[in-house]
Amino acid sequence: KKHFPVNSDFFSRYLSREAVHAVDGVDLTVERGQTLGLVGESGCGKSTLGRCLLRLLSPTEGSIYFDGEEITDLSQRQLRSRRRNMQMVFQNPRSSLNPRQTVGEILTNPIEFHNIAAGDEAEEIARTLLEDVGLAGNHVNRYPHEFSGGQQQRIGIARALSVNPDFIVLDEPVSALDVSVQAQILQLIEQIKTEYDLTLVFISHDLNVVRHVCDEVAVMYLGEIVENAPVDKLFENPMHPYSQALLNSVALPDASKSVDRENVINEDLPSPINPPSGCRFHTRCPEVMDECRSNKPSLCTRVDSDTQTSRLAKCHLYDRK
Ligand code: SF4
Ligand code: MG
Repeated sequence: KKHFPVNSDFFSRYLSREAVHAVDGVDLTVERGQTLGLVGESGCGKSTLGRCLLRLLSPTEGSIYFDGEEITDLSQRQLRSRRRNMQMVFQNPRSSLNPRQTVGEILTNPIEFHNIAAGDEAEEIARTLLEDVGLAGNHVNRYPHEFSGGQQQRIGIARALSVNPDFIVLDEPVSALDVSVQAQILQLIEQIKTEYDLTLVFISHDLNVVRHVCDEVAVMYLGEIVENAPVDKLFENPMHPYSQALLNSVALPDASKSVDRENVINEDLPSPINPPSGCRFHTRCPEVMDECRSNKPSLCTRVDSDTQTSRLAKCHLYDRK
């Protein structure tokens, strides 16, 4: 929806950037144990949606459920205990780690805040967390700036894990890192997902990144989910013209998809505040038809008869019976 009041001072710095992003009519379910990729160009509202899932932002309309409980209208006080189960990892570890706190403090503060442990016991947990994220050794008295970008993101991941959550939203967790480090962090994310029995939402503008870590992918365009599919189905056979364009715009390692249509992704993105009428993608769509300019497509379901998996696409190419 058009306006997201920010609930927490800590996140108020996102207000100026995020408040303008519209997220509209999004219906999304993340199954337990799943990794859901949320993909789209910057400015499409994926970070806003990710923050709404954790109630770091509040939607003006609609409902958010966590583990069967509706959390849409919970107060900050009520949310505090739930936060133990839902955490976030941010894009830029440098700005999301407090430079004045030692790594030990960064990790033990949430542990003590949520009364999980205190003192030496909390520090012991912090050391174990650091080992689990690949930072063995004596690091608890060091400061974030003493670490490389990749190591800082490991610390950011350890902080999210410190309260033993069920659910983590990772917002572009590798985008700020050198390409050589990205694969290591992706591997770490897969490893902790299994070890900590996590459910993940993985936000990225890079389809190649989600391809390797996600089970399911939701593609967003101008604040809407335009396609939702199991990851292999999306890569094999993207239904929505925007997903097709997004796939064609990435350099696929196996080069199995040739770039045979004009690259529509590099054009300027229309404003999500005043999106195009009808289908929001119609100003850039290579398949645009007359009805697309005036009629909003609805989400159409396709069930794959072989695998019985279903997928959704919001496009008039699929809403004819
Ligand atoms: Fe393209 Fe029309 Fe489908 Fe929108 S509804 S993606 S404009 S074909
Ligand atoms: Mg973002």
